[in-house]
Amino acid sequence: MNIIIFGPPGAGKGTQAKYLVKKLNSFQVSTGDMLREEIKRDTEIGKKIINNMNDGKFVDDQIVNKLLENIIFDPTKKDKLIFDGYPRTTNQIKNLENLLTKSNQKIKHIFFLNVNKDAIIKRIEKRKILEKRSDDDDQIILKRYDTYMKNTKPVLDYYSKNENYHELNGAMEIADISIKIDEIIGV
Ligand code: AMP
Repeated sequence: MNIIIFGPPGAGKGTQAKYLVKKLNSFQVSTGDMLREEIKRDTEIGKKIINNMNDGKFVDDQIVNKLLENIIFDPTKKDKLIFDGYPRTTNQIKNLENLLTKSNQKIKHIFFLNVNKDAIIKRIEKRKILEKRSDDDDQIILKRYDTYMKNTKPVLDYYSKNENYHELNGAMEIADISIKIDEIIGV
């Protein structure tokens, strides 16, 4: 089954996505990881996006949308996709729906990990120490959160009307969130 996990930076999307990948033998689609990889490999895309990434701003829809195509049309990954951090804009929703229709796939569940700003700041600071991520500098933490909330509001409005939409309290313990997810997807 294909699943979307979304929520602000530090809400635990990646952690839950990895949990589901293991559990369902599926594939994580993390646009954040893909973009960081482009920067690490110093590709043309990497050069274009480094400033936005480091400033806590979104990367252009066109660039992010393009990254997705190979994965969606890969027959070995069909109906085994866990989207982590995509879609983040209404343009990305349209692109995803278009690609899913073309590849004859559907989204089975949509999870929104809701967590407030204070908890996010604490978590990101902790992660910064563990993962040494350059986009987690103190001064841009709030910017990343605000960018996310501002841009993702229409995405939330859209998906919250879907019958397979589930909002979870992202401030809960990681293991408890996983249990809730398991209950909902029935595994
Ligand atoms: P994440 O690891 O999902 O928190 O993403 C880290 C950063 O990558 C974000 O702050 C954005 O700069 C960029 N990014 C990741 N996914 C997207 C997306 N779907 N659309 C635009 N920018 C993205």
